[in-house]
Amino acid sequence: MPGNVTAICPGTFDPVTVGHLDIIRRGADKFGRVVVGLIEVPQRKSPLFTPDEREAFLCEALSGYGNVVVARFNELVVEFAQRWEARVILKGLRAISDFEYEFAMASLNRKLAPEIETVFMMASPEHGFLSSSGVREIAAFGGSVEDLVPPSVARRLAEMYPPRGL
Ligand code: ADP
Repeated sequence: MPGNVTAICPGTFDPVTVGHLDIIRRGADKFGRVVVGLIEVPQRKSPLFTPDEREAFLCEALSGYGNVVVARFNELVVEFAQRWEARVILKGLRAISDFEYEFAMASLNRKLAPEIETVFMMASPEHGFLSSSGVREIAAFGGSVEDLVPPSVARRLAEMYPPRGL
């Protein structure tokens, strides 16, 4: 029964966007518990925000959800899932461009832990274009990201990169 199932939702969240939050909230509606897994030190990219900052943004944005937990990790995603007794890895899919990478990851994770199912939710149409890297780029050039991220993230980015008033 999904109501008893724990799902993990892993990511770098550098920073969390309204697209991530949409997937997490929809997951919290369908599964008993969602553990948002914050990858502390990603292999392929060096984050703009520290793990403490990324965690604080997530915790603040998700504070109203009783069945959502935020936890940091530095291990294989399937090991993190096993530690939390999760049977599901929940991922958001935006465009076809996400598919190839996510398909490969899901296949590798299935090989490592066949008991854990990767479940994909389609991004809501209004978030299909939204990525953390896009947000960082817009902010770095002084553009407004208010509609794309939670208020605390928008405030922090505006401090780091004073807005140009576009
Ligand atoms: P990003 O790809 O933005 O750097 P992460 O590495 O933190 O973000 O991604 C974590 C998960 O969130 C991935 O499964 C990714 O597909 C999903 N995700 C990211 N942005 C969105 C969005 N706008 N809508 C739905 N899912 C998303």
